[in-house]
Amino acid sequence: MILPPSILGVLGGGQLGRMFAVAARTMGYRVWVLDPDPHSPAGSTADRHIAADYNDPAAIAELAEHCAAITTEFENVPAETLQQLEAKVAVRPGSAAVAIARNRILEKGFIHQHGLATARFFAIHTADDLDAACRQLQLPALLKTASLGYDGKGQVTINNLQEAREGFLQLQEVPCVLEERVSLELELSVILARSATGDTAVFPVGENSHSNGILDVTCVPARVPAAIAGQATDMALQLAAALQYCGVLAVEFFLTRDGRLLINEMAPRPHNSGHYTLDACLNSQFEQQVRTLCGLAPGATDLLSPVVMVNILGDLWNDGTPPWQQLFSHPRVKLHLYGKRQARPGRKMGHYTCIGETVEQCLETAEQVRAELLKRT
Ligand code: AMP
Repeated sequence: MILPPSILGVLGGGQLGRMFAVAARTMGYRVWVLDPDPHSPAGSTADRHIAADYNDPAAIAELAEHCAAITTEFENVPAETLQQLEAKVAVRPGSAAVAIARNRILEKGFIHQHGLATARFFAIHTADDLDAACRQLQLPALLKTASLGYDGKGQVTINNLQEAREGFLQLQEVPCVLEERVSLELELSVILARSATGDTAVFPVGENSHSNGILDVTCVPARVPAAIAGQATDMALQLAAALQYCGVLAVEFFLTRDGRLLINEMAPRPHNSGHYTLDACLNSQFEQQVRTLCGLAPGATDLLSPVVMVNILGDLWNDGTPPWQQLFSHPRVKLHLYGKRQARPGRKMGHYTCIGETVEQCLETAEQVRAELLKRT
């Protein structure tokens, strides 16, 4: 058991690292962040920010020497870094689970191997693989890079063989998956915490809507039948057990119009769709990350109120600083900004949560706040 005021390390200095650092420091731990960006969002909230590359030997040695345990906030930290750290200090989640989660071919293969459903897909390494897959899969389909894709980046829609070939070239012929485009009823996510000894706590299922491939809104509780929510929860738990996972795991689902529940992908860390837990649950997903990292039992995940979370993207800064006073005039709306210096279109700058009696009421407030933030006098 690792107790305060031990030092916890986090690889990656984005908003997830920032919210982890705030949670850990509130609980009495000290936090060191490794991120090459001298102005990373997490760096300014940590006790120490090592601004170095993820494979910098001196930085890795320093983390291994001083940190009682280390976690990651994004899955593209070099595998060697995780392995080097793992040889000396507890790293949670471990490198094996991270390696699977960050590669769509391994990820989807793993999910299938354990009897869980995904959209139909084919692994694509060569143009021949692609031709063969196009003949077997009903088009349109999505061609997605196996690694380094996020928020809908690194994916193209394919309507015919010609587009498939062009798409593969556009993606620079890196390993990909070609995936059936399913007809979506809605999208769900399940976030859970699992300790090293297999104790789990699952947050209520989130209902997610996306805009341009980027998460826009999460509603909790999800407006789906209890049986669907239960099935998604069971599938996420099965996946975590199969991975012998330790840490916070997010699993994204597609609910198709014909009633199939499919796993889209997983993230070996807290997730954007779990930010609502900061304001609406007894423990947040970041407190769970601290607990599981430190060998403590996961905390309770009670939902204290219906909630809606809305992402704030850099587009909102097009006409200058948004009028935050409008948002603050709502007593049950909470603002979270990530301290990013530059607003760019599509960049996640923050989020707000709306608390209310029902999801519908929260949504109404959320849309009102959105309109007010967009309106400039
Ligand atoms: P991803 O990066 O794979 O999570 O994809 C981003 C978003 O694109 C998803 O949240 C869906 O809204 C949409 N999408 C991705 N894959 C599919 C698919 N196979 N069928 C339908 N929509 C998809």
